[in-house]
Amino acid sequence: MKLRSKINLYTTALFALVLIIVNGFIYITFSKLTYGSHMETAEAEMKKVSAVVAQSLGNIPEAVLLRAYVPVNGMIQLVSTEGKGLATTTSQSEKKLAERTPHYFAGETSKRIEYLGRDYSFQSMPIILPSGNVANLQITTTLEPAAKIVQTLGVVLLFATLAALIPVLASSALLGKIIIGPVTSMITTMSDIRRSGQFKQIALEGKSKDELYQMGETFNHMIELLESNFDKQKQFISNASHELKTPITIIDSYSSLLKRRGMQNPKIFEESVEAIHSEAIRMKELTEQLLLLAKHNEQWNLRIEPVNLISLVISSTKAFENAFNSEVILEHSGEPLIAKTDELKLKQLLFIFLDNARKYSDAPITITVGNDGREAVITIADKGIGIDEDELPKVFDRFYRVDKARSRKNGGSGLGLSLAKEIADALGIRLRLESKVGSGTSVSLYFKK
Ligand code: ATP
Ligand code: MG
Repeated sequence: MKLRSKINLYTTALFALVLIIVNGFIYITFSKLTYGSHMETAEAEMKKVSAVVAQSLGNIPEAVLLRAYVPVNGMIQLVSTEGKGLATTTSQSEKKLAERTPHYFAGETSKRIEYLGRDYSFQSMPIILPSGNVANLQITTTLEPAAKIVQTLGVVLLFATLAALIPVLASSALLGKIIIGPVTSMITTMSDIRRSGQFKQIALEGKSKDELYQMGETFNHMIELLESNFDKQKQFISNASHELKTPITIIDSYSSLLKRRGMQNPKIFEESVEAIHSEAIRMKELTEQLLLLAKHNEQWNLRIEPVNLISLVISSTKAFENAFNSEVILEHSGEPLIAKTDELKLKQLLFIFLDNARKYSDAPITITVGNDGREAVITIADKGIGIDEDELPKVFDRFYRVDKARSRKNGGSGLGLSLAKEIADALGIRLRLESKVGSGTSVSLYFKK
């Protein structure tokens, strides 16, 4: 069943149930009251008549006496203790009552009876006959007027219930439309997306910022995010495959050269092997960086603990100096500077910046470790070629290189800084890159307290 039909059905059914219960309650209460008041009147009448009849019996013939007190729509009867009708008088309209078998009741009786499918009030009172015998004076009156009132009420209530259901049906249909409209348009958009494979947004209508509007808005945000992620991914894959194409082409051409003439010419052999080897290393580094970038922050398994930044920087620079045979000047107060971080990841971060400083400058690199009052700071500065102001925001993008030709010669793939940014984000380190073309670059790492 469709959601709209469900809303329609459930609201209407619930409302109908409530109406039926309330109206049923009204009907039962009212019919009880009506019949009750008729019975009370009949009882009072009985008392009055029985007193007069008891007095007049013996003076006036029974038949005449009873005829004087016969109810408008009913019967008056004298019944002997054996249950025999001694005298009976019925009104014109209730002649059939006379055929009803009489019963004797020892005590005063007042009850509702049914005879030939109709309701009657039955009253019985013991009286003493002039002969000294006990008998019953019984008056049976139709309850048809009460039944008619109750019946009319029933019909009115039934119509009222049905009439009340019309606006309920209309409002539940409207409610269904209000709720279903945006959902249907969302479903249409989703199936459009599935069919065409293209990202689409829902057209949002209405000024009331209700939950449905919010749902549509959230959906649009989600689609926006998916689209931008999808674009980034696409860009990343095309960049990555483009980057891998060059080393593979170089390896391909050198290996075929080796195959053709490598055996005869040792110079070609050496050059080819050298080129293949260096390209293989480049590819290895590139894939390692790509793998790291593909990992999500949560998969990094950080081990955060208090680290003395001074000793970490000292050991890192020593390793760096040995590996690249270059000089690094270290400036620090000598006092231990503790920050909570992951030692290995921080080392990796330092190497990325040291590597850039080495590649893009010739003069010695300076590392300063200190405290700017609130946060611990490590600054790596070089006096190299620097980065143009326009390029500064872009250097953290994946595969971005300021001067493609120059970086290619230095073996860079443009992934270092984007990896650095990811690591810094994971460690909660704020990065600040400052640079001036021709005079150098400095990167500062701010550690959160
Ligand atoms: P990779 O680090 O992946 O081997 P890369 O060094 O080219 O390659 P990034 O470290 O991301 O890539 O740097 C991006 C670009 O920013 C570099 O290509 C370079 O042009 C510029 N750059 C980065 N650091 C410096 C620096 N210290 N001085 C001058 N230019 C820099
Ligand atoms: Mg780099």
